[in-house]
Amino acid sequence: MTTTIPRSRVPSHILGYLRIGDKRQTKFALEHYWKGKKDKEVTQAALLEVFTTNIQDQIDAGLDIITTGDFAHYDLVLSQAVSFGVQPPRFAGAETLDTFDRQFYFARGRDHTGQYEDNAAWQMTKWFDTNYHYLVPELEAGEDFSNTDFTQVFKQVSDAQAIIEKNVQKGKTDKKLKVVLVGPVSFLYLATSKVEDKLDYLDRLLPVYADLLNQLGERGVDWVQMDEPILSLDLDSCWQQAFERAYNGLQQTPPQIIVANYFDSLGNNCNIACNLPVSGIHIDITRSSQPKQYVAQVIDHLPSHKLLSIGVVDGRSVWATDQAKAQEILLDANERLNSPHSQTYHNQPKSADGKDNQRLWVGSGSSLLHLPVDLTSEEVPENLKGKLAFAKQKLSEVVICAKLATGERQADVTATNIRLTPAQSDAQVRDGVFSDRYAKQEAKLNLPLLPTTTIGSFPQTAEIRKARRQWNNGELSDSDYQDAMKAEIRQCVTDQEELGLDVLVHGEAERTDMVEYFAQYLDGFWLAKNGWVQSYGTRCVRPPIVVGDISRPKAMTVDWISYAQSLTNKPMKGMLTGPVTILNWSFAPSDSATRDILRLQIAEAINQEVSDLQDAGIGIIQIDEPAFREGLPLKEAEHASYWKQAVDSFKHSASSAQPETQIHTHMCYSSFHDCLHHISAMDADVITIETARSGLQLLDAFKVDDNVNGADDSNGGNQAGYKGSYKGGYQNAIGPGVYDIHSPRAPDSDAIQIVIDEAQKYIPIERLWINPDCGLKTRNWEEVRQQLRNMVEMTKIVRKKYVA
Ligand code: GLN
Ligand code: ZN
Repeated sequence: MTTTIPRSRVPSHILGYLRIGDKRQTKFALEHYWKGKKDKEVTQAALLEVFTTNIQDQIDAGLDIITTGDFAHYDLVLSQAVSFGVQPPRFAGAETLDTFDRQFYFARGRDHTGQYEDNAAWQMTKWFDTNYHYLVPELEAGEDFSNTDFTQVFKQVSDAQAIIEKNVQKGKTDKKLKVVLVGPVSFLYLATSKVEDKLDYLDRLLPVYADLLNQLGERGVDWVQMDEPILSLDLDSCWQQAFERAYNGLQQTPPQIIVANYFDSLGNNCNIACNLPVSGIHIDITRSSQPKQYVAQVIDHLPSHKLLSIGVVDGRSVWATDQAKAQEILLDANERLNSPHSQTYHNQPKSADGKDNQRLWVGSGSSLLHLPVDLTSEEVPENLKGKLAFAKQKLSEVVICAKLATGERQADVTATNIRLTPAQSDAQVRDGVFSDRYAKQEAKLNLPLLPTTTIGSFPQTAEIRKARRQWNNGELSDSDYQDAMKAEIRQCVTDQEELGLDVLVHGEAERTDMVEYFAQYLDGFWLAKNGWVQSYGTRCVRPPIVVGDISRPKAMTVDWISYAQSLTNKPMKGMLTGPVTILNWSFAPSDSATRDILRLQIAEAINQEVSDLQDAGIGIIQIDEPAFREGLPLKEAEHASYWKQAVDSFKHSASSAQPETQIHTHMCYSSFHDCLHHISAMDADVITIETARSGLQLLDAFKVDDNVNGADDSNGGNQAGYKGSYKGGYQNAIGPGVYDIHSPRAPDSDAIQIVIDEAQKYIPIERLWINPDCGLKTRNWEEVRQQLRNMVEMTKIVRKKYVA
């Protein structure tokens, strides 16, 4: 095939960039501001510095289109909702705060300016299948989006323009400016409302978008990127139709609109997306198993006057882009879109300057928000050199790929495939059925009715963090650090004994993070020292990077747990993180086959740890799976297989436990209503689960329900291969969180009593445990003692009613 190389160059852009800064400047600036240590002017100056670097990075990398508007100070969905005047009634009066301060009040439930009372914060939810959380806008029945205030986004526009202008003076010319907005349909889909049909808001919302677009156009913005990530989901026809309705109402120029989809392919929404009345669409091919075919399919559907932006640089992978593969796809796409021989070429409009309109753009698949900032500050091991790319490096990759598309440049980096050894044998399951196991465990543990326990972590105090910092800097020897941690464990155990808890924990003082801790000990992971990624607001995490087969060279927790057990006669719970969560909260390849292998390798490592803990005399072991639901693929067709693999790997990790060893698990951060039979299939003896915030609605789902037939669940319970049905309700023991650990006030005894009473309606008392709804790591000791004291006292009162 002879490739026609089009004359014009292919524009390059990214879908979005990060906000935390290379040294987490944004985090520190905002946290100081909230504490009142820095005033607004100083804080905003610090933020502007990060913003300026972000724009300059894009210019320096050579991108043609500079992207802005996504520099949210907490979260983009939140700041957009605030700019639309969304304000739940419980925040009455907050409109007197400017949008900068108001967004923090909504997100944190605390007004740092001190004018308004503490309030329940907006709910946070995972952003699709990433580990980033967005804030869920709460729309009231009569919401008319009248109190708009676009100051924040306009400021980004003028700041970006000023930076671009300076660069033009230095000779770096011809940059276009693009503003990112969450598109109207995704915005409504991601919001929550008591109104039955959220699409009822669309007609009221569109004029707000139209106004905003108009004003952006007046400010000289060339492009608006409307993010519509819900196009990756299986949408019903109402939501599908809403797209046409929405974009028909937004046609105007300038600015031109590009509708962006990412994280998966368009699937059934391909036709709709391609035919929206906009200038072009963006697709993310980095998660497609057949990217070339996918691109061809989209081009077939795309009218000839529209442009296609192809995301070839993975916004969620820390590995360098496979340039050879990208070039093959892009050359082909360029040929199809721009070649004079191509069918559609002849109808192509000419632009004002007479040049052919370029129909191909090259971009990152998604925003680069989900990546660590910069690799250059890392000490990369020899065998990984040249193979990795963080956000800043990805900017250059996008520019390179745009040149690959025209043939101006040839590929010189090929795939870095992680070569894995698939497991030799299938996943194992433990011996015995729950009722027999639980009877044995009860006989051995001798616990009271309604046993009280906690989720694992106790406050990570300033002293703990200081000791760890000193140890990392070499100011504290290994043995001094161990002594410091042991002292923390000792205090934690003493406190729990004093409080009268029944099953104790060691408190997790030695763990920075429940995934990072294990990754440090496992072979097959690499940890970037400064590999921070925003999780929500100013909270950042450092996801470990999977670099090869995962295995456990030595025990990871046994010494700490054994030490803790040696301090008490009460049962000490061994704390582990489960395979689904470790994989989900790491950087790992996105294809399901590779993930299945890795999950099972991690499960095997956890299985060995369970075995060692058991041999050391630990009778209760908790395998946390807070991220159990998060890895669920976006497309329903892939759900059944995910659930089977997730359940199997959890069961494998617990399979070395003897029937007498009690296995707990813990889940939070998600709604689990739609996957209870999969949770049931994990067959943990006890599950502690976050219920306090959902107002106990979850418990309802755990009860025996004659109307539920396990087979007719949309997530394919039986397809995943479980025997029996879920009709009988949840069969194992449950500890519904009896209070929300995030609420600043200690719940009083009455509140706890209500939860216990309510829980008994659904769960037989013999299978009920009493615990907080999540780990206590982020709380302070004073608060924790008070809350746990109430919890234990209340439990004692309730017990009396039963043990007459
Ligand atoms: N055991 C962990 C803790 O208590 C569980 C954390 C979590 O639920 N995410 O911190
Ligand atoms: Zn939790």
